[in-house]
Amino acid sequence: PQIEAPYQIDIDNVSFQYSSDTEQILQHLNLQIKPGEKLAILGRSGTGKSTLASLIRGDLQPTEGQITINGELTDKFGDQIANYIGVVHQSPYLFNTTVLNNIRLGNEDATEEDVWSVLKRVGLEEKIRQLPDGLNTKIGEAGLIFSGGERHRLSLARILLKDVPIVILDEPTVGLDPLTEQRVIDTFMNELAGKTLIWITHHLQGIDAMNRVIFLENGKITMSGTPQEL
Ligand code: ATP
Ligand code: MG
Repeated sequence: PQIEAPYQIDIDNVSFQYSSDTEQILQHLNLQIKPGEKLAILGRSGTGKSTLASLIRGDLQPTEGQITINGELTDKFGDQIANYIGVVHQSPYLFNTTVLNNIRLGNEDATEEDVWSVLKRVGLEEKIRQLPDGLNTKIGEAGLIFSGGERHRLSLARILLKDVPIVILDEPTVGLDPLTEQRVIDTFMNELAGKTLIWITHHLQGIDAMNRVIFLENGKITMSGTPQEL
């Protein structure tokens, strides 16, 4: 389906289990995410936050219930979902190719200038400029090694280049020191202004900037409110 802004996500009575002989991860979950909303999802390790992200992205299908964007089922989008939703995964995957190819993934007609522009916005321009082969430096085994935080920022650069309206950040700051974490959060908030943002986290740093916070526990939403209320 072709859908147009504004984008509204509806999670309607969604249950999920990975297989019929394992426990239910989500149970009759209902959640509406408004266009441009900044939503934080909190919850303990293993409660199903990343699973929910995969469901919203259409990478997994609900066992029961449905998820729609502007009334269209997410599983109807196929590859086109990438035009609407971008995810910075908990452990971002980089391909064994150049920096340029990694950032341009899914957006092959972007120019090198465009790529430099997003690298600058995520604070990686200088690092890449200093490499002997610049954008053409290879990532991986014999090539360039990125730290966890740098991987997250590279992954964010990919999403900024693609300019999708809905962004899911799955613990993008895990393992960062508090100062770097705050800097990365500030960058994200500036860069994603106006977009729908779903921010998965298991602690409270940075949630002041969000419109709504929900707690996920035992497959259900157990608390929901503004950061001020919580
Ligand atoms: P964390 O905060 O540690 O990232 P999470 O809230 O993101 O945790 P999920 O990764 O969604 O949790 O996992 C929820 C549950 O589903 C866990 O018990 C996990 O073991 C299980 N699980 C996750 N992925 C799979 C999979 N591919 N197959 C089977 N079970 C899975
Ligand atoms: Mg997770």
